Amino acid sequence: MARQLALLLPFAAVLVACGSDGSPVSGAPSATASSTIAAATATGGSIPSEGARTAGGATPTVSGGTAGSATASPGASSTPGVAASAATSPAVVGPRRVIDLLRVPVGDGKVSTSARAGYVWRCGGGAGGPGGGASVKGPWFNSDGTYNATAKAIVDGAIGWPSSFTASRSGSSRILTGNALPNHVTGRFPIQPSDDAYQYDRNPNSISQQTLAVTLPADPQVAAQASCVSPPFVAVLASGSVVFDALDALNRDAGAWETQDRCAGHPQRTGQYHYHTVTACVADSDSGHSALLGWAVDGFGLFGVRGERGETLTNDNLDACHGHAHEVEWDGRQVTMYHYHATYEYPYTISCYRGTPARLPATGGGAPPPRP
Ligand SMILES: [Zn+2]
Ligand SMILES: [Zn+2]
Repeated sequence: MARQLALLLPFAAVLVACGSDGSPVSGAPSATASSTIAAATATGGSIPSEGARTAGGATPTVSGGTAGSATASPGASSTPGVAASAATSPAVVGPRRVIDLLRVPVGDGKVSTSARAGYVWRCGGGAGGPGGGASVKGPWFNSDGTYNATAKAIVDGAIGWPSSFTASRSGSSRILTGNALPNHVTGRFPIQPSDDAYQYDRNPNSISQQTLAVTLPADPQVAAQASCVSPPFVAVLASGSVVFDALDALNRDAGAWETQDRCAGHPQRTGQYHYHTVTACVADSDSGHSALLGWAVDGFGLFGVRGERGETLTNDNLDACHGHAHEVEWDGRQVTMYHYHATYEYPYTISCYRGTPARLPATGGGAPPPRP
């Protein structure tokens, strides 16, 4: 298939419980784009962020019954040039920033040696190591240091896998086991010469099963200090596959450079299928705060792109590690706790750890940096 809107694919409108009972999310990706994203596209590809309101100074209409949590703030006049449909998010008066999917800032080189917003704090300060990654800069890069996330080449194919994954709670531990194959379809890898994506990224790797066996704290605590992320992965999703940080082997923005399949995943050199960005193939809720999508290596939850009022989050709404704290559902209870969010902008997911990361077995590509 030609270029598609990877990020605009389905945020499935069905809330699928994942994690509280240890059962994996099941089901193939939906073919229906969510109304939120579709509406945003109609206004120029922009996704309204926190505090969205209609341009032109119209009186905000709070929708979704979440007005009680809305916070008014100074400067409630209109923001010229901001296009946002009132239907796309609860209209809350306040500061806002919009992630324009047509112009997402490229995060190349944004690697830090301490917790820093908008950067990935990689242990050792960065990747390096033998090459890999996209060979050619795709035409979806704009000339102003941004890229058009809706125009990336998508790896063709819709291949199903015998995924095995369980997440269970045992005492104070959460135990994740499986074969790391996703419970959704993937593209065809290695990327075929007939695939349009091949022009930009000749990912030669095949997807293969791995041994996934991770024990995390079930009720993680914020550590005295944040800590760096390192391979092999930063989170495990309810799909049974893992999330890598935002960088490719050359310290470039993997979300911008690499070509992924319709579920935003691809394999590295040991065959481990992984995501660098938010995937549309793990079901999120369709309103309000996003659903739990998986677990970071420190045990905290990784949720989707929406905050408490259903607003699309940006880095501005999150701390340097890409998270924040408020009440969420956790193993069936309402608990005020820290958690991470995905965003549509670099660094996309976890960029450092607020908790204490588990020591991971060096399986499934535990060696230095993931390729691609
Ligand atoms: Zn949250
Ligand atoms: Zn990758």
